[in-house]
Amino acid sequence: MSKMPLAIEAAQLIDRLDRFTRSDEVRHGLSPAQWEALRYLSRANRFSRTPAALADYLGTTRGTVSQSLISLEEKGHIARTQSSRDKRSVDLSLTSQGHAALAEDPLVRLAADIAASRSADLASVVTLLRDALVRAVARNGAKPFGVCRTCRHFEATSRSQCGYARCALLGEPLSKDDSLAICAEQELA
Ligand code: SF4
Repeated sequence: MSKMPLAIEAAQLIDRLDRFTRSDEVRHGLSPAQWEALRYLSRANRFSRTPAALADYLGTTRGTVSQSLISLEEKGHIARTQSSRDKRSVDLSLTSQGHAALAEDPLVRLAADIAASRSADLASVVTLLRDALVRAVARNGAKPFGVCRTCRHFEATSRSQCGYARCALLGEPLSKDDSLAICAEQELA
């Protein structure tokens, strides 16, 4: 039997849940694009907290991202500093106010609804959605923005060496927190 009817119902459910979350977001005083930027900055590693990487992650233009970042900066949710790696670029970071805003993230309400579901196998749902995302990323020619520890450039360091791990691509040390963050340069191992 074809999986498509059930797959279409799943896609419609995801779309409907997304619409509820989006309308909730506007009620909280930030646009959906501004919420997405805050979430990205809370998950991205230090090499990826730039306007260009954010634009790639959202699949949008740097001009569009720039408007969201100006608004977030005016609201005191983010700060910019000149990049130590590239003098022509800036690094973005969440302020304490930005972290406080994320504590009220409407997406957490959706997560709570999912957690309250009586359906048992949440891990299988997450695996399925990750797989669907990999396919969507490939179809759109987008960057994966996967988690650092799943990257082919991730090298765990031995106990005799200092640090938790190392990035073989960028030649930089990585902490345990870094290993769990998402990265613009990630390539699945
Ligand atoms: S190991 Fe991969 S994901 Fe981690 S910082 Fe290096 S390029 Fe990025």
